Amino acid sequence: MSTIALHPNLVVPKSKALAALFTKMRDVNTQSAEFTFYSKRAMKILAEEAIAELPSTISTIQTPCGPFEGTHIDTNNLCAVSIIRSGDALLESVRECIPSVAVGKILIQRNEESQEKEAKFYYSKMPPGVEDMNILLCDPMLATGGSAKAAIECLVQKHGVKTERILFANMITCPEGLKAMADDYPEIKIITACVDDKLNEEKYIVPGLGDYGDRFFNTV
Ligand code: URA
Repeated sequence: MSTIALHPNLVVPKSKALAALFTKMRDVNTQSAEFTFYSKRAMKILAEEAIAELPSTISTIQTPCGPFEGTHIDTNNLCAVSIIRSGDALLESVRECIPSVAVGKILIQRNEESQEKEAKFYYSKMPPGVEDMNILLCDPMLATGGSAKAAIECLVQKHGVKTERILFANMITCPEGLKAMADDYPEIKIITACVDDKLNEEKYIVPGLGDYGDRFFNTV
């Protein structure tokens, strides 16, 4: 299926480096320290690709050997927002690319006891003026879309952000998550490294890599 059929605003960067890094991350035999190592390398690439989707201008700069038509990305008006906990890992990669970036946090947890694994909102904190900023929402796994939708609802209803200003970066997604986002937020651009096959009964992505937060933070 073409990616446009899954979500009208989906960006899947082509990268041989990401393919190799994900192989390490997906492997069930990769232990947490190694998972974190490869994951940080992959997230840095994804963060750069997501940042590249921000508004940009073209103008001429001078190289030591002559003029060059350069791309200038507007990172000044950006707020990177993580969905705690695994979103924090991706947020740190964004902060490595843009150390001065403003940061927001949203705590949403899915109810692991229930079959639907529905998302519940607990807490959010945004910088002043967030309603006029571009938002880079960070969550490595887009599975059912429940957490992403709850985070976007929080940004819009509680903090006055317009959905047109939101970019959503994640490492792995699946058709179910993309459909959920396409139904409610087709205008939000999603930058993802991989579109996997499906969700299993536990609402984990297949083949996926298991629980991102547990593997990254060694809480397996
Ligand atoms: N969250 C994860 O960490 N992994 C999944 O497969 C789905 C949601």
